Amino acid sequence: MNGGQIGNVDLVKQLNSAAVYRLIDQQGPISRIQVADTSQLAPASVTKITRQLLERGLIKEVAQQASTGGRRAISLTTEVAPFHSIAIRLGRDYIQFSLYNLGGEELLSEYQEFFYTTQTDLVEGLTTYLKCFIQSHQALINQLIAIGIILPGLVNPETGVVEYMPNITIDNLALAELIEHNFHIQCFVGNDVRGMALAEHYFGASQDCQDSILVSVHRGTGSGIIVNGQVFLGFNRNVGEIGHIQIDPLGEQCQCGNFGCLETVAANPAILERVKKLIKQGYESTLSGIEGLTIQDICEHANMGDELAKQSLIRVGNQLGKAIAITINLFNPQKIVIAGDITRCEDIIFPAIRRNVQNQSLTTFHKNLPIVASEIDKKPTLGAFSMIKRAMLNGALLQKLLED
Ligand SMILES: [Zn+2]
Repeated sequence: MNGGQIGNVDLVKQLNSAAVYRLIDQQGPISRIQVADTSQLAPASVTKITRQLLERGLIKEVAQQASTGGRRAISLTTEVAPFHSIAIRLGRDYIQFSLYNLGGEELLSEYQEFFYTTQTDLVEGLTTYLKCFIQSHQALINQLIAIGIILPGLVNPETGVVEYMPNITIDNLALAELIEHNFHIQCFVGNDVRGMALAEHYFGASQDCQDSILVSVHRGTGSGIIVNGQVFLGFNRNVGEIGHIQIDPLGEQCQCGNFGCLETVAANPAILERVKKLIKQGYESTLSGIEGLTIQDICEHANMGDELAKQSLIRVGNQLGKAIAITINLFNPQKIVIAGDITRCEDIIFPAIRRNVQNQSLTTFHKNLPIVASEIDKKPTLGAFSMIKRAMLNGALLQKLLED
């Protein structure tokens, strides 16, 4: 959390420290002179800031062979191992905890079913599980610097207030403040898909570009838009609700109240529902039945050539492609990343997506535009960690650590 307004002098201090830390993180090992050159800060400021970072243990000096031969130059790199954070992914019926070091390495992860129907249930359950997680891994946890939480819903990422969740009624839940109060540690809260888009940018498939769009197809369908290396946020802070683009005016009713939203066709529950319906109607399929049918089963059978499973997924790819074409026309991204179980059928779904993108977006926008599968889908907590990483890079968390 930002902690509200901070004075100008403090803000400049925070931004300068962040600029130095960011350079060392992204370009290290790097010398103080290079840091001063690239950041355009006065060498004296760089010396002062690096001294503070060294004293706090956030960076370290390494000897590097100078390219000219001669004596070894001293360079700086970040120190990531001793700084730990807890990243939490809250789902509609589960909660997952991971412990990360500052380098983004997942040290351990725990998943459990978690059912909640009210805001009070949610807060009490989350707090209890978190206490439990910290207690049972006390021995492994080094310096705990932050907690990150991502969840399905609309969140003000600056204040950490949850404004809406799709599954329960929420009344301005000040989640970050609550966790900070109970655990005496910085907490960052954000939307799950937007968090994963940032994670994809820091650690995954869109590391090599500044503008990308992550389209996530899980329980719901959403997107996260990265512009200039940052999550694109409007005045109301939540942008990318691709799941509620209407693709069929006569379609099924969506949980949002409208009809024929993308999510009523291209989300795991909708895919399952439709395949079950077709099997019930007597369509032939190698899928044995509707009892216990999963999205993984459908993907597996589609890959083995089952026509019903295959056609169902192509239909999903077509509708996804139409919605993605709209986002391409609006944002002209350098890359589209798709996350979700359906990417197991890349050879079936992606051609359908591409065909629709080609037909419905500007040629200059989709020519040479890579559409790829997520690289971090199997690390669902990485989105929560990415908010912590961002707070280090923009100085919000870094400054707190320096002042400790
Ligand atoms: Zn909707």
